[in-house]
Amino acid sequence: MAPVNDKSARPDASRGHFQRSLGLRLVFATLGFCAFFTLITVSVRSWVEWGDHVKLMNQDLALIEQVYQRTLSKAIWEMDQESLEAHLESAIQVESVGRVVLKQIAAQGDPIVMTRIRTGWKPSRFAPTRQLTLTYEPFVGAREDIGELILYGDENILFTEMKKEIFNISVLQVIQCLLIASLILLLFNRSVTVHVSRIARHLARLTPENLREPLQLDRPAQRDDELSALEQGINQLQDNLSGYLDRQYSYEQELAAHRDRLAERVRERTAELESLSVAQQVVLSLSHRLIHAPYEKLDAFQQSCLAEVAQRLGARHALWYQRTSNNLCFELFMQWRCAEVNAPPRQLEGVRLVHLDVALDAGAPVIANSWKALTELLTPYGAKPFLILQAEAIAFVPVGRGEEDLGFLVFTKASAVEAWRADECALMAMTAQMLLHSARHKAQLNDILQSQQALRLANAQLEELSRSDSLTGLPNRRHFDEVKEIELRRAQRSGQPLSVLLCDVDFFKRYNDTYGHAVGDQCLRQVAQTMRASIARAGDVVARIGGEEFAVILPATDAAAALSLAERLRLAVIDQAIPHTASSVAEHITLSIGQATLEPGETATFEALLELADRALYQAKAAGRNQIVSYTLKEFS
Ligand code: GH3
Ligand code: MG
Ligand code: MG
Repeated sequence: MAPVNDKSARPDASRGHFQRSLGLRLVFATLGFCAFFTLITVSVRSWVEWGDHVKLMNQDLALIEQVYQRTLSKAIWEMDQESLEAHLESAIQVESVGRVVLKQIAAQGDPIVMTRIRTGWKPSRFAPTRQLTLTYEPFVGAREDIGELILYGDENILFTEMKKEIFNISVLQVIQCLLIASLILLLFNRSVTVHVSRIARHLARLTPENLREPLQLDRPAQRDDELSALEQGINQLQDNLSGYLDRQYSYEQELAAHRDRLAERVRERTAELESLSVAQQVVLSLSHRLIHAPYEKLDAFQQSCLAEVAQRLGARHALWYQRTSNNLCFELFMQWRCAEVNAPPRQLEGVRLVHLDVALDAGAPVIANSWKALTELLTPYGAKPFLILQAEAIAFVPVGRGEEDLGFLVFTKASAVEAWRADECALMAMTAQMLLHSARHKAQLNDILQSQQALRLANAQLEELSRSDSLTGLPNRRHFDEVKEIELRRAQRSGQPLSVLLCDVDFFKRYNDTYGHAVGDQCLRQVAQTMRASIARAGDVVARIGGEEFAVILPATDAAAALSLAERLRLAVIDQAIPHTASSVAEHITLSIGQATLEPGETATFEALLELADRALYQAKAAGRNQIVSYTLKEFS
């Protein structure tokens, strides 16, 4: 089966001629119909003609009957055989007659039959036959039948005539049909085919470009028939299609323009995003640097970040203003300028303090793309301080907002710009944010450092307190315990002597009982003060190790020197002359002192040394108090 869309199978409308044209088909159909019609016509007319010929033949035979009736009757009556023969010969010569039979009635016997037959005649049921009884009337009233004449028509004559007729009719019909067919073809060609072909050619060469060219058939305009309707329909269709294509074209144009705009927007946005991500990367790395900056170098790091951002922006100046303490204006906190600006920093004095009349509360950068725009933004008076910067375009970027308003950044460009790019604005805003965080970070670090310092101080005080006695301010037992081990190891390591004094106030219970506990405390403070004052060497440690018991560690002090120091202590307390009426040994406060010394080369624990001193003290008490007893390890080993 041939494919439906096989173009080669389709007629080419532009050719104008076709293998099976409508006209030819019409002619063939007409001819076919004519042939059929001719057949019918020939049949009917032949039938009619046949009837007519048979009738004519019958009339001929009847005429012959009339002609020969009298002569034959007379000849039979007169028995004129010769005449009969002649009449029969004559009759058979008549064209329509095929056979003539004459029967003479005889008085006796069978009738005499005379027959004449035309050559080629044969009996037929189509040709007419006439039978006539011959009578003779020799006198009036004496009619007598004398014979019978039978005339047979010649079938061949009928057929010959019919053939001629059929031939004539057929030829006539064929000519008639051909003429009709030609006429139809001519008319059809002139009124239909030529226009249909033209329509086909017109449609075949139609393209979107020539769709506006209307179809015009070559025929009178007043014609109003199917072809006119077809012409109008095609023109209408072309108009509709053309309008549709125009609309389609404009839609496509719009779509293409929209697509172009979209592609352009996507390109711009992509470039913007790429620049933004670069800006983000920059700020991210700078933030990282600021976060890890040591506190003391934070200002320098901020300065370098500001410089890097300004260079990336292609700026001429980058300034960071912070609010003055009186909150009235802004002062220059940090500044950077590009290498081309060779003005001395002093020139920036003019912009050291500024009032900024522009509102930065919104948190977004405020931009002036030209000097004119800046004077409009800040008024000529407000813009005046920035004149020194010789900048055409200036951007103000708030650093913080609301309660955390840390001032603003100023970036300048030498020449006016059409607009600051989106990534530049983002970079400036992110830088301001970064510096805000950095400043916040710095303030927090400052707080932390101050807190740490305060804590250290408090710790030191606490440490001091935990190691000192609250009543006398002397080192307490804890401190004494720490120091004693250290001094023992040092003495043993260095091979130097180490002495310990245990001092106990005599009859102190009685003192309390006599003067009261508060006076007792005061007495203890005075004794402690006296002891501290008497111990001049830096390495010596005087500690209060019990209620009214004091211990003195004397590094690098032998027994003799320790004894001398103990004596000085005892006397110093006596010199204080603190009245003690209840004492049994003196009228003043006195001390009993036990002394123990670890000589070089000896090994012992400090506990052993202390126990020895305790024994010595006990001995001093037992011996009457207000005295010193001195022991060495050797004496007990
Ligand atoms: P001795 O001469 O034998 O040392 O007799 P003493 O009374 O001094 O010794 P004792 O150990 O019997 O008494 C010590 C007294 O010291 C008892 C206590 O009331 C008093 N004391 C201890 N610590 C303090 C203190 O911090 N303040 C005051 N006011 N008195 C204290
Ligand atoms: Mg005591
Ligand atoms: Mg005592």
